[in-house]
Amino acid sequence: MTLEEFARVIRQSDEIVVFTGAGISTESGIPDFRSPGGIWTRYKPIMFQEYMSSEKARVESWRRRLETHETHKNAKPNIGHYFVTSLHHKGKLIGLITQNTDGLHSVAGIPDEKLVELHGTNRKIVCLSCTKYFDPDEIIKKLVGDFPSPRCDTCGGILKSATVSFGQPMPEEAMRQAQEWTEKGRIFIIMGSSLQVQPAASFPVLAKRNGALLAIINREPTPLDEYAEFVHQGAIGEFCQTFSTLIADG
Ligand code: NAD
Repeated sequence: MTLEEFARVIRQSDEIVVFTGAGISTESGIPDFRSPGGIWTRYKPIMFQEYMSSEKARVESWRRRLETHETHKNAKPNIGHYFVTSLHHKGKLIGLITQNTDGLHSVAGIPDEKLVELHGTNRKIVCLSCTKYFDPDEIIKKLVGDFPSPRCDTCGGILKSATVSFGQPMPEEAMRQAQEWTEKGRIFIIMGSSLQVQPAASFPVLAKRNGALLAIINREPTPLDEYAEFVHQGAIGEFCQTFSTLIADG
């Protein structure tokens, strides 16, 4: 399908589901995982079980957080995030499923009821025992020198960024909502994901099985390109700039 044909389909549909990954936020200055220079080229992931059982792993995790906190805090949504919000404003969006934890889709104006954050959010810290939430700034400002891992001021439980680590169970309600939207969507647009992280990457497969039109906008090839009706291999920002004009032209 050509770009113009895809634009026509989008103009005519109000049953769109968007699925985003780390690639939509790289143009806001937040590195992804798998691109050259991405997070995996510098750090080995800390598994949830390791985080729970090892003080050393927790401190290492907070040290990594300290390194990235300011970048994340100061990051602003980019044209890709605003493009998805514009689909919502046009009444076209069933829902947005994101693997991102940076909160930039909310900052760009996607309301909570249209957003599933499959891997949680790093804009909150949670106590893993009593589920009390904390503002990250409040916790992070206390991490100076040779700090111990922070604890809950109410119950003494282990604190963690409210994100889903490898080895941690997926949030049930988020999974249920993502599945419901995926089954309803007639068009499923993937933006900035390598589609390698499971179970998140199973949603595009489910969409395809259900007969949705699959569109992929990603800088690199993905394992689902051959099943997609529309593939754009390139930067999201540039694509959205052109595409926004095309769909506005009616
Ligand atoms: P990924 O790193 O595996 O893949 C990102 C993909 O986006 C790559 O294929 C890359 O080619 C593409 N990409 C990068 N910048 C792009 C751009 N400007 N335009 C078009 N394509 C671009 O990311 P993933 O698939 O989301 O999976 C990794 C996991 O990383 C997720 O679970 C997510 O929770 C986590 N993560 C999130 C953030 C964030 O919240 N911003 C950042 C890093 C990692």
